[in-house]
Amino acid sequence: EAKRSEHSPVCLFDASMQTALDERVQLEDRLRLAIPSQLHAVLQRQVDQAGTVIGAELLLRWQHPSLGQVSPARFIPLAEETGLILPIGQWVLASACQLIERWSHAPHTRGLVLSINVSAREFNQPGYVGQVERALSEHRADPTRLKLELTESALAGDIDRVVDTMRRLRALGVRFALDDFGTGFSSLAYLQRMPLDQLKIDQSFVRALPDNGNDATIVRSVIALGRGMGLDVIAEGVETAAQRDFLCAAGCAHFQGYLFGRPEDIDTFEAGLR
Ligand code: C2E
Ligand code: MG
Ligand code: MG
Ligand code: MG
Repeated sequence: EAKRSEHSPVCLFDASMQTALDERVQLEDRLRLAIPSQLHAVLQRQVDQAGTVIGAELLLRWQHPSLGQVSPARFIPLAEETGLILPIGQWVLASACQLIERWSHAPHTRGLVLSINVSAREFNQPGYVGQVERALSEHRADPTRLKLELTESALAGDIDRVVDTMRRLRALGVRFALDDFGTGFSSLAYLQRMPLDQLKIDQSFVRALPDNGNDATIVRSVIALGRGMGLDVIAEGVETAAQRDFLCAAGCAHFQGYLFGRPEDIDTFEAGLR
């Protein structure tokens, strides 16, 4: 406050804005150079009620030589704004298809489903269906082993177009999950029209289970809604046995979270299955 009276507040504001902008531009330049050499995929297991691994979610990591690990919470939004998410998404898709093909050769990995996160900007670009189709066939990956996680914002555009894109991908055998469910603006009428396979209950609703009565009610309702619509329901961010027990009792079939495993390198994930 003292500084404000000494200097012009307008100048101070401009200076800090300029710094923020410089940092952003610098991070953007760094991200552009990072694709794909500084990117790598980690996997987080998804389990059923018995604790058996049924699949994994691929999560992106950026290891910068001087910045160290940059969190996806920081670089994914930047990638989305700048369009860099398009080459990043292609790399993720190719990596996933390679992995699916490799998994098809061993009995303990053959049955797994691999989920990848797809941004609205990727999903809604013209030619996305062709891109997925090419990636699958180039790597000879079984399409039914690939699941695309979309958020409500990806589905918010032209509903007819979105449904058409989903149907064409589904015709290939690809599956869909609605990620972070409950945090966007979910119109139940839209939900009904989407050819989805899975609802992912957002971790913000799981965190305070089972003690928070409101969250408990929301989670029970979402599970009932999903099951009623014939969808698989998975809870994310499951960290405690008490959360898992509550979710199990409410009829949730699948789980993901630190209780079962952190995101880990592909080798470690695969070794953990044996
Ligand atoms: P998401 O898809 O909802 O992924 C779940 C996030 O929760 C991951 O964070 C995961 O590490 C974290 N998580 C898993 N279990 C637990 C738990 O028990 N407790 C807590 N507190 N957190 C848990 P991460 O890896 O930092 O990713 C953040 C977000 O970045 C993802 O949220 C997703 O929206 C985005 N993202 C990550 N990889 C990609 C990618 O390849 N493409 C796109 N478009 N987005 C990605
Ligand atoms: Mg996800
Ligand atoms: Mg999520
Ligand atoms: Mg999330």
